[in-house]
Amino acid sequence: MSTSSDTRKIVVIGGGISGLAAAHFVKKIAGNQGRSVQVDLFEGESRPGGKFDARLDGGYTVEAGPNGFLDSKPWTLDLVKDLGMEKELLPSDQSSARRFIYSRGRLHELKASPLSFFLGGPLSITGRLRIMAEPLASTTPRGKDTSLAEFAQRRLGKEALERLLDPMVSGIFAGDPSRMSLRAAFPRIAQLEEEYGGLTRAMLSLAAQRKKAKKRGEEAGISSGPSGPGGVLTSFKEGVSQLTDRLASDMGEHIRTGVKINRLGVANGGLYLRTEAGEFNANSVIVATPADSAAGILRDAAPQSSTILSQIPYSPMAIVGVGYKLSDLRNPPVGFGYLIPKVENRKILGALWTSSIFPGHRSPEGSFLIRVMVGGARDHETPFLPDEELLTTVKAELAATMGLTAEPSFSTIIRWKKAIPLYTVGHLDRLAEAEANLPPGVVLAGNAYRGVGINDCVREAEVAAIKVMETFI
Ligand SMILES: Cc1cc2nc3c(=O)[nH]c(=O)nc-3n(C[C@H](O)[C@H](O)[C@H](O)COP(=O)(O)OP(=O)(O)OC[C@H]3O[C@@H](n4cnc5c(N)ncnc54)[C@H](O)[C@@H]3O)c2cc1C
Repeated sequence: MSTSSDTRKIVVIGGGISGLAAAHFVKKIAGNQGRSVQVDLFEGESRPGGKFDARLDGGYTVEAGPNGFLDSKPWTLDLVKDLGMEKELLPSDQSSARRFIYSRGRLHELKASPLSFFLGGPLSITGRLRIMAEPLASTTPRGKDTSLAEFAQRRLGKEALERLLDPMVSGIFAGDPSRMSLRAAFPRIAQLEEEYGGLTRAMLSLAAQRKKAKKRGEEAGISSGPSGPGGVLTSFKEGVSQLTDRLASDMGEHIRTGVKINRLGVANGGLYLRTEAGEFNANSVIVATPADSAAGILRDAAPQSSTILSQIPYSPMAIVGVGYKLSDLRNPPVGFGYLIPKVENRKILGALWTSSIFPGHRSPEGSFLIRVMVGGARDHETPFLPDEELLTTVKAELAATMGLTAEPSFSTIIRWKKAIPLYTVGHLDRLAEAEANLPPGVVLAGNAYRGVGINDCVREAEVAAIKVMETFI
C-alpha cells in the first residue's frame, strides 16, 4: 500500500453500510476534486456488511438484518445509481402496502386515508376522538427534547401512544417510547410541531402545499409518482448484501476483513491505529463502528467522547425465520405483516410476511417465509431462550396473533445482542459534545448517531466523507 507524499491516507473503521458507503463517498469526492487519496477500510469480522446479512439456507433467503430501504428518500437510490446497480433493485410487491397492528385479539389493517382511519384501526372511538383534540395540546418548549411517549400522550392521548405509536417504534427501533428522544429518533415530527404548532395543522398545511404543487405539476405536464409518502420498500434481487458486497469488492485490496481496530492514537501531527496485525498510520479516520466499539477505539485519544459513546444503549433482537409449505397454509397472508403493541403483553414484536413482500425471491416455489422479530428494548430475555424453546414460543405466538397453526418445514434463528441503538432523551446534545471533543481528523459515522434506517446511514456516510475532505483544505 505505498503512497506518494501528497496522497492523503484515510482509514475507515467498520465495514457495515455506513463504513463502506463512507469509503465510496471519500473516493468519489476526491475524484471530483482531483485530489489524491488512499482509502483503506478495516472490518473486524471475516465478512463485510455488518447488519446487512442475507443468509441463504434451504432455498430460502433470510435477512438477518434489514430487508430493504424506502425509495421515498434519495440517499440509497443515489448510491445505487453511482454503482450502476439499478437493474439489481427489487421493489416490494404492491400488496405489501397493507400493514397491520395486532390489538385486542385480532389484526387491524392500518389505512392511509384519514376517513378510513377514523372508521377502523386499532383505536376505540374514545381514542379516535382524543386524536381529534390534538390541535388543542400544549407544544413542546422550543429547543427542549422530550420522550416520544410524553409527546405522543400529550398531543394524541394514551391510547394512540400505546396502540399506534408504540408498535411503530418497535418496527423501526425495537425501542421504548418512554426513553426515546423525540428530536433524535423522529426529527421530522419535532420539526413539524415547532414549525406549525401541532401535527394536525402541519398535515393540513402540507396537504394544501402538495395539492398546489400537483396542480403546478399538471399545468407543467409532470405527473406524480406511484409511491405514497412512506415510499416503497426496496431491496435487491439476491438480498440486501448485494449492495455491501459490491461496495466491498470495489475496495479491492484496500479492504481488510478480520482485522479489529483496538485503539486510535495521535502522534506527530497524525493518527495511528493499533490492531493485533500491527499499527497503521492515517491523516484522517472515519469511525463507522457501533458506538460501544467506537468508545473502545477512542478511549485514549478522546476520553470524554468515549465515555459518552459508551453510554448509548442498544436493543437486543432475535430474528426467527419460519418457512411453510403453501399447501399447509389455509390462507397464505397477503401484506407486509404486523406489529404488536407492548400493552398486548405478547412475546414477539411482530412478524413480516416476507414471501408476500418479495414474492418469488425469498422462498422456494410452493413455500412461504415469515420473519418474526423477538426482543427489543423491553425484552432482554426471550431472544436468548434456547433455540427449541424460542421456536416453540414463536409458533405459539403466531398461532395466537395470526391464527397460524401449521407446522413450519424450515426454521432458522439469528440473534443480535446489540441490534439497534436507542437514542434516549438528550441524545443530540450528548452527541454534539462527543463530536466536539474528537481529535482533529477523526469523524464519526454509523447508525448510533443520526438515524438507524439505511437511508440515514448512507446520508451520514456522505456527510462524514465531506467532513473528512474538508479537513484537507
Ligand atoms: C434486525 C434488523 C432489521 C433491520 N431492518 C431494517 C430495515 O428493514 N430497513 C432499514 O432501513 N434499516 C433496518 N435496520 C437498521 C439498519 O440495518 C442498520 O442501522 C444499518 O445496517 C447499520 O449499519 P452500520 O454500518 O451503521 O452498522 P453495522 O452494520 O453494525 O456495521 C458496523 C461494522 O463495524 C464492525 N466493527 C465493529 N467494531 C470494529 C472494530 N473495532 N474494528 C473494525 N471493525 C469493527 C462490525 O463488525 C460491523 O461490520 C435493521 C437492523 C436490524 C438489526
